[in-house]
Amino acid sequence: MKNKKWILSKRPVGIPNIEEDFEMKESEIKKPDFGEILIKTQFLSLDPYMRGRMNSGPSYSKPVEIGGVMEGEVIGEVVESKSKFLKVGDMVNAKIGWQEFSTVDEHQVIKITQDQSLPITYSLGVLGMPGRTAYLGFLEICRPKPGETLVVSAASGAVGSIVGQIGKIMGCRVIGIAGSEEKVKYCKEILHFDECLNYKTEDIDKSLSSFGEDFIDMYFDNVGGEISDAVLNHISTFSRTAVCGQIANYNASSPPVGPRVARTLLTKQSLMQGFIVFNFEHKYPQAMSALSEWIKSGDIVYKEDIYKGFENMPKTFMKLFEGENFGKLLVKVN
Ligand code: NDP
Repeated sequence: MKNKKWILSKRPVGIPNIEEDFEMKESEIKKPDFGEILIKTQFLSLDPYMRGRMNSGPSYSKPVEIGGVMEGEVIGEVVESKSKFLKVGDMVNAKIGWQEFSTVDEHQVIKITQDQSLPITYSLGVLGMPGRTAYLGFLEICRPKPGETLVVSAASGAVGSIVGQIGKIMGCRVIGIAGSEEKVKYCKEILHFDECLNYKTEDIDKSLSSFGEDFIDMYFDNVGGEISDAVLNHISTFSRTAVCGQIANYNASSPPVGPRVARTLLTKQSLMQGFIVFNFEHKYPQAMSALSEWIKSGDIVYKEDIYKGFENMPKTFMKLFEGENFGKLLVKVN
């Protein structure tokens, strides 16, 4: 049996070209040595940050090398073990990238120990990196208080949907921004957001004006670009903006130019803080425990968008940038 893996064959300029920038290759499967396990991938997570890893240049994390396996986290089954801690059949989360098999050190994986009543795929979503991002980014930076107004962009997505629902749990008024009528309906009817705007059909600046003046106490920014320019026109004095993601700009071939926000931040005495979830590692157990409880109590509803087929990884990845995913994007290996 051979391993299949997706490598980065070329650095994209602008929107990745799925034919030219990625290549599927085969490689040998290494037998585990003492202290190692062989993992067979069952689910792969597809996340917006992977676009950043395709670029060279300084960032908080190293880029994928040309010829290197595309980065990413998977759910895998241990199929061979020379580990004292992990046995055949154990399910693990592992950052082995876009590949079907990998032999890794036993300490490089995390055994999945979440509540058995919840789908195992949640370990890549609401009980994994996106859930922790939503919980910690929102509570640590936005610091919600009951009665305050929160705006969240990419509102129906893996991170945004959880941020908005935590906002509701905290007693806030929640306004989402999303990219289709179906997503808007989902945010209002299923997630119980107070409002949701469709940025593809509405003038966001104008729509926000209809809610009042300087009324946004917290903005959880998942997208950047013109949506954020519009939202920042309506922030309140002492408001807090958590800069979580800038997906509207990830495929830009040159830095986008926008309004200078410094004056708004000054006159509104407002905080704007970017964050990377890894910085809150010491608080992961707290986040996991709260999110599990909210899922079980029904206070948090969570949607996944699972595609079949390892062969389609690049094509499926691009759905994130076209707004074609509806919920946490995952790929199931056939
Ligand atoms: P989502 O599940 O929200 O999927 C991405 C969504 O972004 C799309 O479905 C689409 O929704 C929206 N989108 C795509 N392109 C654009 C665009 N040009 N303008 C506006 N919206 C766009 O992804 P995640 O929840 O996983 O990630 C959300 C954000 O959080 C990303 O920016 C990501 O990089 C960031 N992030 C940051 C972390 C951190 O530590 N700081 C950790 C994890 C994620 P729609 O149809 O509504 O437009």
